[in-house]
Amino acid sequence: MNILVTGGAGFIGSHYVRTMLEGGHPGFEEAHVTVLDALTYAGNRDNLPATHPRLTFAHGNILDRELLAGLLDGQDAVVHFAAESHVDRSIADGAAFVRTNVEGTQALLEACVAAGVERVVHVSTDEVYGSIEEGVWSEESPLLPNSPYAASKAGSDLIALAYVRTHGLNVSVTRCSNNYGPYQHPEKFIPLAVTNLLEGRPVPVYGDGGQIREWLHVDDHCRAVQRVLTGGRAGEVYNIGSGTAVANLTLARRLAELCGVGPEMVRHVTDRKGHDRRYALDQGKIERELGHRPLTEFGAGLAATVAWYRDNPGWWKPVKHAAGRP
Ligand code: NAD
Repeated sequence: MNILVTGGAGFIGSHYVRTMLEGGHPGFEEAHVTVLDALTYAGNRDNLPATHPRLTFAHGNILDRELLAGLLDGQDAVVHFAAESHVDRSIADGAAFVRTNVEGTQALLEACVAAGVERVVHVSTDEVYGSIEEGVWSEESPLLPNSPYAASKAGSDLIALAYVRTHGLNVSVTRCSNNYGPYQHPEKFIPLAVTNLLEGRPVPVYGDGGQIREWLHVDDHCRAVQRVLTGGRAGEVYNIGSGTAVANLTLARRLAELCGVGPEMVRHVTDRKGHDRRYALDQGKIERELGHRPLTEFGAGLAATVAWYRDNPGWWKPVKHAAGRP
């Protein structure tokens, strides 16, 4: 089994790859993994083993069609994580989001068709559904993205589904809620808060902090992606949620507590433009069809994540302070 993983040097992709190389995905203990990653500011070669007999690392862009043709030759499956992934950056400049998330996904899927790849999973996000005041989004809910990031991911989802109908490519789409865990870039909420607190700085919380997100440990996300890869149906979308809904302010205060400081270290800042108020997923389909359930309890997962950042300043300090950032 040969499997190509795009974005495998990022937060979630690298967790997926490390798990596979450690034999953590049943049936894939002998699989050869090729990671294709552009190593943008978010990609980090140190997230993957420097040498491993079942890993090939290709430094390149999913927009490079010639490179894709060469790499996809002989691949049985593709798991597509590569993306521009930070909402704030998409507000400051959305162009890279359209290029990588929309054009890049199209280039990758076209190359998969040409190479005869048998199975593809396109990894997407709950943010494509937009904000929901109450209740939950199912896979049948309309796509109502609000940020340029979410809109570019929604565009990529539609392209993926079109490649099923038009070209018969065997693609499934996953839409996951907010992830947390080790190796997440310190620009994202939980690692930003924890690394700030570990350096004695306050935690910025947008607006009133009442925005509600559903949090899932990265390991549960990766196990779900693997379930979809092996058992999901072509042209189907699978929500991946946790049912653990937490307001940002509550989470920031909890992180302060876990870092041994008081709630005064949490500071309100001007709200993000177009900030979605609440995300919530119906995760019944993946549970019914593929038997997937999250395993990591939020309190335990969060404490372990804080401990990981406390124990690994050598990983996050260079990333956080890259290019002279304070
Ligand atoms: P990340 O930003 O940590 O990693 C993205 C990776 O993609 C990086 O290694 C980067 O170098 C690579 N990349 C970016 N542009 C590329 C390009 N043009 N060609 C090749 N490689 C490129 O992101 P993440 O948090 O690991 O997210 C992975 C996927 O999961 C994304 O598709 C994201 O939309 C989705 N997702 C993330 C979350 C979350 O909470 N982080 C939740 C749901 C879905």
